[in-house]
Amino acid sequence: MPKKAVVVDDTMFMRMTLKSILENLGYEVIGEGADGFDAVRLYKQLEPDLITMDITMPNKDGIAAVKEILAINTEAKVIMVSAMGQKTRVIDAITAGAKDFVVKPFKQERIAEALGRIEIAEKEQSKNKGKSKKTRKKK
Ligand SMILES: [Mg+2]
Repeated sequence: MPKKAVVVDDTMFMRMTLKSILENLGYEVIGEGADGFDAVRLYKQLEPDLITMDITMPNKDGIAAVKEILAINTEAKVIMVSAMGQKTRVIDAITAGAKDFVVKPFKQERIAEALGRIEIAEKEQSKNKGKSKKTRKKK
């Protein structure tokens, strides 16, 4: 079964780009959102294996959304996708628990690399399962 992803960005072009890259890499994109509220709602509804998160969005930004998602599930896999020159905000996102960040504009290889790192981290986690209790909270 393909892994499921949700793409969140306030520009349709970026959502389309990410969607096609993720599909090329074997993911199924099961939801798209345009702000942080969409991100949190879609995360709860769809429980995707992966979420790509823009930082600068109206209503609720990607940093706030990533914090909420990690509060729901500490093992959520979030990749931040940010414009250039947002180093401080990217650090905020990583501190909040995002797994990786990709700077726009990017190539498919960079997304593949981020996914590869996450998959390695997942394998490590599953090796350690049993040592620690599951951290997923009830909705
Ligand atoms: Mg944006």
